[in-house]
Amino acid sequence: MSAVDYNRCIRCGLCLQTCPTYLETMTETSGPRGRISLIKSVAEGGLDLTSPGFLHQMSECLDCRACEAVCPSGVPYGRLLEDARAQIQEERAPSQDARTRFGRWLVFQQLFAKPSLFRAAASLVRFAQRTGLDGLASVFGLGDAAKLAPRISSRFFLADGRRIEARDAVGTAFLHVGCIMPVAFPQVHDAAVRMLVRGGLNVVVPAAQGCCGAIAIHAGEPDVSRELARKNIVAFEDSGADVYVVDAAGCGSMLKEYADLFTGDPAWHERARRFSSRVRDVTEVLDGLELDDRIGRIDADVTYQEPCHLAHAQRVTAAPRRLLGKIPGLRLVEMNESAVCCGSAGVYNLTQPDMAGRLQRRKVENIRETGADIVATANPGCAMQVAAGLRADGSDARVAHVVELLDEAYAAYQPL
Ligand code: SF4
Ligand code: SF4
Repeated sequence: MSAVDYNRCIRCGLCLQTCPTYLETMTETSGPRGRISLIKSVAEGGLDLTSPGFLHQMSECLDCRACEAVCPSGVPYGRLLEDARAQIQEERAPSQDARTRFGRWLVFQQLFAKPSLFRAAASLVRFAQRTGLDGLASVFGLGDAAKLAPRISSRFFLADGRRIEARDAVGTAFLHVGCIMPVAFPQVHDAAVRMLVRGGLNVVVPAAQGCCGAIAIHAGEPDVSRELARKNIVAFEDSGADVYVVDAAGCGSMLKEYADLFTGDPAWHERARRFSSRVRDVTEVLDGLELDDRIGRIDADVTYQEPCHLAHAQRVTAAPRRLLGKIPGLRLVEMNESAVCCGSAGVYNLTQPDMAGRLQRRKVENIRETGADIVATANPGCAMQVAAGLRADGSDARVAHVVELLDEAYAAYQPL
């Protein structure tokens, strides 16, 4: 929690109306300006790091970074929050019970660090989902986690070292596979590969890559994130690719900010900086490629749900809309508050179920007002949260990644 960072706040309040938790509560402490004041108080010794009020605010904040995107003083809010969470975890670790310590070790140092273990766990979850055994999770105190687990796909997208050649290639892309995407949304990776190849990029999917480390850093485990970052940097350096393509906004923002993990390590900081300069969201890449006009129609109304980590952290808002606009028959109907978080935010559903539910209902209401048949987005967390909210609302609107819709339109092309 650097003084240089929090002292940049001039308390203008311009960020307040962008903050989802402020909009819901209308209280100063549940907004960015209030949280920055709390962080400053803790850093300067006026408030205890583990005081209930501080812990609540560091947990209730979604890390959506909407405040950061509009701040005229350039307060790096995401960095302040992540530093605070890391300090809280460091302080609490020695007194955490054995079950908590084991759980954190299992999740952060094993599951997210080892893709084969993650796939094995996903296979177990899939088995439980298909046989109804997930209903027993509540017996073990895991009811909420089971309810919120993504529907695991019948097949996984593997980072298996494959290389797909484009005709008249203009470059080579490395596809970031991640952890949730390949087990719950393999069809998005498939669509991304086909679209990149259509746009003239060879695609490589190196086996040596891994989780981006975002889940770990949001949970106050920067050492785990650094280890994962080193692995991805080395995999990319060895891949011979020109660009590192990501189709999950949360992963993309993490990968673009790897240098922040290595501030005290000049050699890795430089490697991370070079790596991050090549990272692009798939919508940015496709928006910049020459796509041919052999594209079919999708006759429907679509609305676009901005993933926070694409809109606010990466500041990518126009490219996804331009891509949707290329699809004949598809009519974009903007929703109110498209850039306000849907309440997904990693494990926020588990840690802050009440606020997550309020934001989910707010989002569904805004979607319903558009009358759209399809909600397009670009992040797995948003896709799951919005789809669950729509189901609970009795809506049959479909949720899809922008790249899936684009790929479907190309697949639907029929020559005259
Ligand atoms: S917009 Fe920036 S400077 Fe203004 S109150 Fe918010 S964080 Fe502080
Ligand atoms: S990151 Fe999001 S939830 Fe947290 S203070 Fe900023 S706008 Fe509010």
